[in-house]
Parts: sequence; C-alpha cells; structure tokens
Amino acid sequence: MHAPESLSPFAHAVSASLAARGLSEHGFIGAAELGAATSRVDASVAAAYGLVQARGAVIAALPYRAGPDDAAGAGGPAPYARVAPFASANRYATLVRLLKEAAESAGLPRHAFRIFVNSRLPEKPLAVLAGLGFIGRSSLLVEREWGTSCLLGGMLLPEDPFGGRGGRPPEPGALEPGVGCGSCRACADACPTGAIAAPGSGRAGLDRLACIQHWTTEPDPVPARVTAAWGDTLYGCDACVRACPFSAGVRDAPDPVSPAETGPGSLLSIPWLTGASDGELRERFRGTALGMKRFSPALWRRNARLAGK
Ligand code: SF4
Ligand code: SF4
Repeated sequence: MHAPESLSPFAHAVSASLAARGLSEHGFIGAAELGAATSRVDASVAAAYGLVQARGAVIAALPYRAGPDDAAGAGGPAPYARVAPFASANRYATLVRLLKEAAESAGLPRHAFRIFVNSRLPEKPLAVLAGLGFIGRSSLLVEREWGTSCLLGGMLLPEDPFGGRGGRPPEPGALEPGVGCGSCRACADACPTGAIAAPGSGRAGLDRLACIQHWTTEPDPVPARVTAAWGDTLYGCDACVRACPFSAGVRDAPDPVSPAETGPGSLLSIPWLTGASDGELRERFRGTALGMKRFSPALWRRNARLAGK
C-alpha cells in the first residue's frame, strides 16, 4: 500500500474498505501514470473499460495457496485430471465480489467505478506501478506479501487517488522480468518445459509457446515438446508459482472464497470428461473459471485426453 499520508481522503476510504475485506495488499495509481501505462491499449478495449474517463486506479492482490490440492471432490472414476489451484475455485469471481463490495462500502456509486479482473488491461505492469511488487523471471508479478501466488484485479476510479500530486515511481528494473529476482532461478528450474529463461541463458522472460498453462487454453494443436511434459493437467499449471520463495507467505493467507465460488474443484475424472457431451461439460463448468465463453467443451476433452496419456 502507498504511504497513507500521500493518499487523498477518497482513496483512504477505498483503501480501508479493501483492507476490511482481506485485500490488504493493494496500491493506487494516479491519473497521469494510468494514462501513460495504458496509452498502448487497443482503442476498443480502452472504450470498453472507460479508460478515458478514469482518473486513477487501485490494484489488489488476492492470494491463493499453490497446489497440489487433492482434497477437492473428484466426482467420477479415476484417473483424474488436475485444475491448477488458482482456478480450482472461481477466485476471479471472489475478487470481483470483494472489489465491488469495497467500492460500494466506500460510498462509490455503481456507475463511478469499473472493475477489471482477468481482463485485457495490462494488469501486471499496473500492479508494479501501484507498488505491489516486481515482474519475476516467470513473467508473473512477484507481489510483496504473496509472491507469485495471487490473482490480480483492480478498479478504475473517478478521482485521482493522489489528488493530482502524482504517485510513486516504480523501483528501477521492476518492470523487467527477473531483474528483481537477483540470483534466484527456482522457477526456471521447476518449469517442466524450460519455458522460463534461466540466468545466463541469453534469453529473458517467458517463452509463452513452451508454457503448459498457455496451451491449456488454446485450441490449436499442442507442440510435441509441451505434450511430452503435460502430466495430469486439465487447466493451468503452477509449478513455477510453487517454486517461488516469495510465495511462502500464502500458507497463512485468508481464503475468502464463498460457497458459490468453490467450483470446479482440483481433480476431475478423465473418463467423465472425455465421455461428457457439450451440454454436460457446459453445465458442470457453469459459474467457474472453466466456464468462460471463450473455452469450448472440445478444449476440455482434448486436455483430458492429453492428461490421460
Ligand atoms: S506455468 Fe508451468 S509450463 Fe508455464 S512457465 Fe510456469 S511452470 Fe513452466
Ligand atoms: S522463483 Fe525466483 S526467479 Fe522465479 S519469479 Fe520467484 S524470485 Fe524470481
């Protein structure tokens, strides 16, 4: 969180409201910094989110415990395919709910703020600008308290949270993948496909086309080097998150998921997944992170077949 004395009274109210809902890790971005950080956002995206009207933003981090978690219901015969912990409950919905509650509790009328979670806005650079951490070697945000084991979301605000005085600039190098990691290479060593550039490799950041998580959401044919390391994955991969030493703090983190946000669970029956109809899969994933419109039932059947190989 930014030093409280630099925030406007309006931002103080938002900050207190977020903290009261367990979103203690949050930070603000002033109007000028927000404009600069989003200047290259596609015009249609900017219009959809009302970026032009926004006078600032607050970014918040919702922690989750990195896996593996075998406790959640499997619901069918073995073998099972795994959903990564960030999506084994619908934490995107949890974060939207908490942000909305915080805004309303701080007195913001519904039309005055815009929530973004898992959006097309540059959430990780915005989180750095908000002072939440730095971009790690894995290209994930290394958040001060939760490391890489958190989801990011935010709100566009109708007032500048610094009253026009400008926010704090990011730490030098905080936006460059791995600069803040020092000599640590734990995520690069843990990655089953070598997607993360190790120090001294001559590369930097993440090779997205070698990342299992990327391919769990892509319907195109999966490259052989990725299928070879696929394991029991249905959606997501958190090997690099689990490896990050900065993520250790999430062991004691609050988990504010509500009963309506607990799906789809972490283990799902491969025989059921591969045999289910489109309608059955849609119904099973409705209201979960796997139920997003851009994901087709065929994607889940393909991933389940790869997990069952
Ligand atoms: S999500 Fe998995 S495959 Fe992708 S970079 Fe992390 S460890 Fe590697
Ligand atoms: S595991 Fe180490 S190298 Fe990777 S993001 Fe975390 S601190 Fe950086």
